[in-house]
Amino acid sequence: MNRLIFMGPPGAGKGTQAEIFKNRFSIPQISTGEILREAVKNSTSMGLEAKKFMDAGDLVPDVVVIGIIKDRLAQKDCGNGFILDGFPRTVEQADALSKILKETKMDLDAVINLAVPDDELVQRLLSRAEKEGRADDNEETIKNRLQTYNSKTLPLIDFYRKAGILREINGVGSMEEITNEIQRALG
Ligand code: ADP
Repeated sequence: MNRLIFMGPPGAGKGTQAEIFKNRFSIPQISTGEILREAVKNSTSMGLEAKKFMDAGDLVPDVVVIGIIKDRLAQKDCGNGFILDGFPRTVEQADALSKILKETKMDLDAVINLAVPDDELVQRLLSRAEKEGRADDNEETIKNRLQTYNSKTLPLIDFYRKAGILREINGVGSMEEITNEIQRALG
């Protein structure tokens, strides 16, 4: 069974690697960032609410993203496993996830954490800004996203380490090297 979380700071490459393993394991990749960007694009009420937080590089309120994940995990295609990409990002979200999984009698198998130094992340996000033009990839917002990650999300690493399911991966290297390292960590 593959019930996985891909964690890491903005720019660590978790979305890229999650997509590779989604194909390799034939399980859905659930990216809260993608779901939120889609909602913004479609101007849904959720999108309109989320936009101001995303543009500022702040986290969207827990209640919104927890609702997204609760609905998504209830869908049939998650029955054989899933990759959570960009969720959870706060202790509250991690607690909510534990509760959802307990209710549905599911367990997490592994949490992959991609570690990349801050200065490398800033370089990557700035170059992504040039290529993809994502609204939140500008210098001011990048700084805030990294700070938010360090204060709100970093504590989760310890949470999952204590749970015995954390797999720490060096996120600096070629895409293939990192994919291989993740594959080894998943066994
Ligand atoms: P990145 O990892 O580069 O920040 P994401 O696509 O994962 O990119 O997220 C983009 C933005 O979407 C975040 O800055 C935040 O505003 C919002 N977001 C995504 N996932 C969450 C989450 N789990 N909790 C709160 N906000 C989120």
